Amino acid sequence: EREDLPEVASPEALRPLLPKRPLTAHKGSVGRVGVLGGYKGEGLRYAGAPLLAALGAYRMGAGLVHLVAPEGTPLEPLEAVFHPVPSPTLPPLKAEALAVGMGGGPWGRAWALKALEARLPTVLDADALHPEVAEAYRKAGVPAVLTPHAGEAGRLLGASPEEVAKDPLTAARALAERTGLAVVLKGNPTVVAEGERLSVNPTGNPALATGGTGDVLSGAIAALLAAGLRPFDAARLGVYLHGLAGDLLAEEKGVGLLAREVAEALPRARRLLQ
Ligand code: AMP
Ligand code: MG
Repeated sequence: EREDLPEVASPEALRPLLPKRPLTAHKGSVGRVGVLGGYKGEGLRYAGAPLLAALGAYRMGAGLVHLVAPEGTPLEPLEAVFHPVPSPTLPPLKAEALAVGMGGGPWGRAWALKALEARLPTVLDADALHPEVAEAYRKAGVPAVLTPHAGEAGRLLGASPEEVAKDPLTAARALAERTGLAVVLKGNPTVVAEGERLSVNPTGNPALATGGTGDVLSGAIAALLAAGLRPFDAARLGVYLHGLAGDLLAEEKGVGLLAREVAEALPRARRLLQ
């Protein structure tokens, strides 16, 4: 028996974590998510990122998604409640979890610090990923999940993306230790770490290496936080289902997925796990 082998996330371990959908569920009772992302510069170049996060949240079962995004952002998905803002601010909204930073560019850091005032469990992704932001969440005792890819993890650790990718287990553990937060280090494999706990994700494939899939993941994890899961559980369940959605699609279509299709396949992945 080796004790130092990390846990590989198994369907048996994850199944009990799936949020229940009681017969009396209503859209205010199953988890509401606030997505804060995009920025006004460069002609709204990354406006799609928060939209994909909103889709990810709905497809993971969120009852309501509030989309806080720059004025001029296309109103999508139609199901979201849109809060157009002229600058990175947090309008009053009813939510149980947030996802911040996707396509946020120079707004990302300010938004993450504003979002902290809500004291809600938060997914910090993309442009919200700064050492100063992680430190602020740790200090405030607000539960958060960091979702860096190797490049973003390198920025947080002061290492190169290559160094991170070479040994993702060590990098994920180091990042979790340094920040005191839950960490999803994305890649192949994706590793989830929190404190002493480490979970290696067995699903997913290189067809997921396409623009926007990471944004879908942050929304999906936020939906699980909003449903009441703890950060480590929301992270490993979200990563597993997102990877499984990618596997279902790759089997059907091969390479050439769109991130929105990964979102659309999340309910099927969830049913498979059930
Ligand atoms: P991002 O870089 O933020 O867009 O996120 C990309 C998403 O695709 C993450 O969930 C990655 O884990 C996943 N992904 C990218 N490349 C691969 C790969 N080669 N194998 C498995 N998953 C991948
Ligand atoms: Mg990303």
